[in-house]
Amino acid sequence: MSECLFCKFVNHVIPTQVVYEDDHTFAFRDINPQAPTHILVVPRVHIENLATMEREHETLIGHLLWVCAELARREGIEADGYRVVLNTNRDAGQSVYHLHFHLLGGRHMTWPPG
Ligand code: AMP
Ligand code: ZN
Repeated sequence: MSECLFCKFVNHVIPTQVVYEDDHTFAFRDINPQAPTHILVVPRVHIENLATMEREHETLIGHLLWVCAELARREGIEADGYRVVLNTNRDAGQSVYHLHFHLLGGRHMTWPPG
């Protein structure tokens, strides 16, 4: 069994606040939300991050973005706007090494990011 926390969520070894699941993806609420809506969208397969993605993952990662857009609609944040973030390695602040999109919305956000 993988030691990866997000693999444990995906495989229902550790319970979490699931908001969406399908054959390829899994989405759940961030434990430390940075906005009124803060959902993490992850692939079921363990990919560390964008730096280690392979060409064979292109369709999967496109699907993850579709899930982000669909969940933004369901959360009611589509019209006002939202941000999708993918942190890769140390300088970006990646802390969990299972690829995840952050879906953030429900408040105004500034640019550039911190
Ligand atoms: P990153 O820093 O981009 O790797 O994002 C990791 C995210 O995982 C952070 O926003 C954390 O708040 C979140 N996180 C860490 N542990 C948990 C947990 N047990 N349940 C839900 N989200 C978590
Ligand atoms: Zn994993």
